[in-house]
Amino acid sequence: MNPHTSLSPFHLPEWALEVQGQQKTPLRSWHERMAFVIELSWSNVRHATGGPFGAAVFNMQTGQLISVGVNLVILSNCSLAHAEMVALANAEAEVKSFDFRAAGLPPYELVTSCAPCAMCFGAILSSGIRQVVCGARTEDAEAIGFDEGTKPDHWTAALENRGIGVQVDVNRDEAVAVLQDYRARGGVLYVPHRTQ
Ligand SMILES: [Zn+2]
Repeated sequence: MNPHTSLSPFHLPEWALEVQGQQKTPLRSWHERMAFVIELSWSNVRHATGGPFGAAVFNMQTGQLISVGVNLVILSNCSLAHAEMVALANAEAEVKSFDFRAAGLPPYELVTSCAPCAMCFGAILSSGIRQVVCGARTEDAEAIGFDEGTKPDHWTAALENRGIGVQVDVNRDEAVAVLQDYRARGGVLYVPHRTQ
């Protein structure tokens, strides 16, 4: 662990800080953890603080919440501020290590309402996280107009080959409902598909 005091790289909106502070009870199953991050994604749209995506890092063994992430691209004028990036970066600050696999730390898990885009896929590899749990699929985000970038065709195998467990389609229908509602409301597509 790094002995230096960590600054949380991303500033969460007030409502998300409250949710993070109030979630003291461990969430023991993937379904519970996914329901929690899907609720984050609903709340992010409801509070008009960003896109329809939520994520969180948990202690994989106990289900204790470490940090929440929501999409803050528009609010922070930062194209990096995807829910997974926010959750990973703030969790690393919280555990005071840039490597979740540093000696003395328990295994950590990223739970995300949607499968990671190309950027978040790279961040997952760099982070040392042990497991990734996904709700909606990449194609579900692309179906409402987001461009998820180019990932390896067998991206789950690519993660597993690095010792990162992957679970997909957890509470997928509930996760997709947030995306479809966002499109129906005419939500901003901050990563439109671009060809030039
Ligand atoms: Zn992403």
